[in-house]
Amino acid sequence: MKIICVGRNYADHAKELNNEVPKEPVIFLKPETAVVPKKMPFFIPDFSEEVHYEAEVVVRINRLGKHIQEEFAHKYYNQVTLGVDFTARDVQQKCKEKGLPWEKAKAFDGSAIVGKMIDKNELDINDLNFHLEVNEKTVQSANTSEMLFSVDKIIAYVSKYFTLKIGDLIFTGTPAGVGKIYKNDSIKGFLSEREVFTVNVK
Ligand code: MG
Repeated sequence: MKIICVGRNYADHAKELNNEVPKEPVIFLKPETAVVPKKMPFFIPDFSEEVHYEAEVVVRINRLGKHIQEEFAHKYYNQVTLGVDFTARDVQQKCKEKGLPWEKAKAFDGSAIVGKMIDKNELDINDLNFHLEVNEKTVQSANTSEMLFSVDKIIAYVSKYFTLKIGDLIFTGTPAGVGKIYKNDSIKGFLSEREVFTVNVK
């Protein structure tokens, strides 16, 4: 299983980090070991002073595919949830300045929360509200219609480079409102008002 993540897929988030709005998706990978195990807390890694949450809609691939056309992309995923793409922002900033890959900042152990999966037929993936709460205060709130690249476009794009396999996850990018997490924070994710995860920070 691999996790494919899209960066800068909401214009307002690209702007808050002073990044240009991309003309094609920005993609990177996280390994399977990035997933926070069920019922476990998120441990802030000791190599970062500034870990940020990034709430993202996640889809689960249910068919093997390569070079998938956009019009057929909807047949390649069956479940949807909310996740968090944890980012060691200070480490990422150093990588960016030197033009180096982001993996140390993005793909470390525990850098991905994956919520409880919901059948995609119960939701409208192109018009889906989601929000993230930290200590019961909403910090990010958006709708998937604000994405620069839709889920189907993302699947078509990433499958040009990577064969998609059953169980792979795609993180579809975060809206504005990212911020630092602290020890003892409680993070809750909601997809269309349904709570899909609660994770404590240690
Ligand atoms: Mg992200």
